Amino acid sequence: MHDVIVIGGSFAGQSAAMQLARARQNVLLIDAQAPRNRFAEASHGFLGQDGRAPSAIMREAVAQLLKYPTARFLPGEAQSAVQEDNHFTVRLADGTGHHAKRLVLATGVSDTLPDIPGMSERWGETVLHCPYCHGYEMRDHPLGIIATGAKSAHQATLIPDWGQATYFTQGIHEPDPEQAALLSKRGVAIERVPVVALIGKAPALDAVKLADGRLIEVAAVFTVPQTSPASTIAESLGCLMEKGPTGPFVKVDAWGATSVPHVYAAGDATSPMHNATVASASGVLAGIAVHQSLVKA
Ligand SMILES: Cc1cc2nc3c(=O)[nH]c(=O)nc-3n(C[C@H](O)[C@H](O)[C@H](O)COP(=O)(O)OP(=O)(O)OC[C@H]3O[C@@H](n4cnc5c(N)ncnc54)[C@H](O)[C@@H]3O)c2cc1C
Repeated sequence: MHDVIVIGGSFAGQSAAMQLARARQNVLLIDAQAPRNRFAEASHGFLGQDGRAPSAIMREAVAQLLKYPTARFLPGEAQSAVQEDNHFTVRLADGTGHHAKRLVLATGVSDTLPDIPGMSERWGETVLHCPYCHGYEMRDHPLGIIATGAKSAHQATLIPDWGQATYFTQGIHEPDPEQAALLSKRGVAIERVPVVALIGKAPALDAVKLADGRLIEVAAVFTVPQTSPASTIAESLGCLMEKGPTGPFVKVDAWGATSVPHVYAAGDATSPMHNATVASASGVLAGIAVHQSLVKA
């Protein structure tokens, strides 16, 4: 019986497991090793790791975690988690079961991109969601913003700090008068004929093609993808969910406690704000909270 099983071993899960290992708790970290940012060559803005490959950051984090004798790392996908008596059983695809007194769910989210030919093969390279993560690398190039919803016009107002911007409404989100005034003040062009394809040798991007045949030169496009939980385990355990601007997320308190006793959650799966540092910080809090709940048990 482990004290804690952490499911999901990226920024949030590793941060939770590290606090628990340092508190000398017996912690098993199970990870399917498919973090959300795996499509990007480099991760940016994470303290001390700026510009490093996501896989290199994770390899180093696992190596540091495993220096603690009470930590174990198990690559694989948790298929289910059930609460039985006073503990949880987590089952993997190979049928093995692992038991713990507490669970931390740090399973992240999956992205659904707009259904435009050429988007998916450029995701994380020249099709981007976060200017703070990847805008600097695209600086001084012509940039597009492809609307997916109400947040898109806001995103478009930010982009001129990295390059000359064109906002493609796609017939999906027309800026309201306040947004239109800010877009105009920021020099953002507005294009209402929809983008129907991305042009260039992927992952490079030369232009977007519009429905009327015109090509508009861009080196990258920003878009706000829809998100959904990468795992159904939280819902299957009965954790309450909240509605976010891009998709549902697990409802937690400030310390990562879900609505189900002894189940904690952290990272992108629990927040409408998706960022590696934020995910890591929430993992730290969940790890500490789990330790303190074990002290009181
Ligand atoms: C293309 C792209 C680039 C990005 N670049 C940056 C950046 O430069 N800087 C930045 O701050 N943020 C960036 N982000 C956001 C960042 O990736 C996320 O905020 C961060 O990864 C969230 O960490 P997490 O631990 O919550 O989830 P994730 O990193 O998504 O990790 C979840 C982990 O859980 C595992 N998992 C899921 N289900 C199971 C299961 N059932 N069993 C076992 N394991 C499971 C997954 O395999 C994965 O390893 C980027 C996002 C994208 C999409």
